[in-house]
Amino acid sequence: MAEPYKIVVGLEVHVQLLTKTKLFCGCLNKFGLPPNSATCPVCLGLPGSLPVMNEHAFRLALRAALALNCQIASHPGQAPGFTKWDRKNYYYPDLPKNFQVSQYDLPFSHDGWLEINVAKDAKKDYTAKRIGIIRAHLEEDAGKNLHDESGKGRDTLVDLNRTGTPLLEIVSQPDMNTPEEAIAYLEEIRLLLREIGVSDCEMQEGSLRCDANVNIHIPKADEPKGYVATPLVEVKNLNSFRGVGRAIAYEAQRHYEEYQKDTAGNFRFGKMLKTTAGWDDAKGRTQVQRHKEEAADYRYFPEPDLVPVVVTAELIEQVKAETGELPSAQRTRLQTQYGLTPYDAQVLTAKGRPTVAYFEALTKAVGDGKTAANRMSDLVYPALTERKEEIEAFPIDAAGFAKFLKKGPANSQDRRDVFKVMLERNLGVEDAMIIAGIREFDEDALRAAAAAAVAANPKAVADFKKGKDAAKMSIVGAVMKANKGAPNDVVRRLVEEELAKV
Ligand SMILES: [Zn+2]
Repeated sequence: MAEPYKIVVGLEVHVQLLTKTKLFCGCLNKFGLPPNSATCPVCLGLPGSLPVMNEHAFRLALRAALALNCQIASHPGQAPGFTKWDRKNYYYPDLPKNFQVSQYDLPFSHDGWLEINVAKDAKKDYTAKRIGIIRAHLEEDAGKNLHDESGKGRDTLVDLNRTGTPLLEIVSQPDMNTPEEAIAYLEEIRLLLREIGVSDCEMQEGSLRCDANVNIHIPKADEPKGYVATPLVEVKNLNSFRGVGRAIAYEAQRHYEEYQKDTAGNFRFGKMLKTTAGWDDAKGRTQVQRHKEEAADYRYFPEPDLVPVVVTAELIEQVKAETGELPSAQRTRLQTQYGLTPYDAQVLTAKGRPTVAYFEALTKAVGDGKTAANRMSDLVYPALTERKEEIEAFPIDAAGFAKFLKKGPANSQDRRDVFKVMLERNLGVEDAMIIAGIREFDEDALRAAAAAAVAANPKAVADFKKGKDAAKMSIVGAVMKANKGAPNDVVRRLVEEELAKV
């Protein structure tokens, strides 16, 4: 590493769960509804209303926790699987109850891990690193303040549609040491939670939010630990994965500069309170906002209106069964079962389960995983991007694509042309080849053409015999010109064989 310090990052990720209704009432959990239309006495916190837990939300959270290799409510002194709800008390306009139902000392899951790829060149190599998960707990979300951004000093409005929607908070260990590792972790979390149907993880819509806890360790031999740690800062207002990476790099450098200026030795972990800073993506800098509340400031206490939950072994088995294959397991399987490289397996898995299903059906039909993966990269992915289509809606299914690969042209440019015609005109491979002006070729006919071309070009043959390789290519070119769409490699071989006879 070029920097004279080590970056230490832990991430807190909040994801909204894909439920129909909110966590403790029957209001819709849906983005984009008219403001305050999805509310009721429970989520508005009106006196006398009572919450009832949404079991599906709990199952989804459990699915995520198990996929993150977490232990499920295994707390000393408590019955196995025992977890409870707590009130986190604070006052804010978007929180009409003045408390948030969350989980404090007995979260439903804890002590897990997620594997990420930290290879320098993630396109070629795979180097695994496990990022520890301290805990994942379930809580209700708050509403949203809509500030007047015109600068004309109009009122701030409050939209309570989001109040009480289910939110999963995933807290990692401070195990990430570069901005790239933090981004890789977020990408893996997003892929995982999307694949298992827990969250759509749309950062733009706020269904994935992230705060980064950052500090640095500066090597110093006379310190007890061999390094100086700077005070923690929690960076908020991160709107993109790229922003997370930039904010971490910025904070690390800022810490190092503060440390160098600090001759009194106060800018140290343990000597200063944790601070909160907001990331300004346009300016590319953070703004320190406030000193962070300690847990005591929230006066947590057990939620009296909700019964604790006991997660049974039976429920865990049910949830595991409905989760399906995890991305990490899928990448390994694609390599062992189909002989794909780690990179190809990574690309496929990142595209999601429907793409993997397409690939597996295609491989079954063409008999070779590597060819299937390559042809999908050459033809299917670019077409999907161009057509702004998901693979489920792609007009050429795996069987149709397999037929195309078997009967279509062998030459890659012709293949692209024919594929384009098939898509544009909704045609089968045979018809598309006729329209693209490409005939099918048998080897005998091509050999005759090669022999004829050799006979018709005595000068090129003579040049070739003198060692001019380009002369051979002019004969190949003549054959290709007369036989548009013929497989180039076959023509070249036949010309070489015919030349050898002269
Ligand atoms: Zn409600």
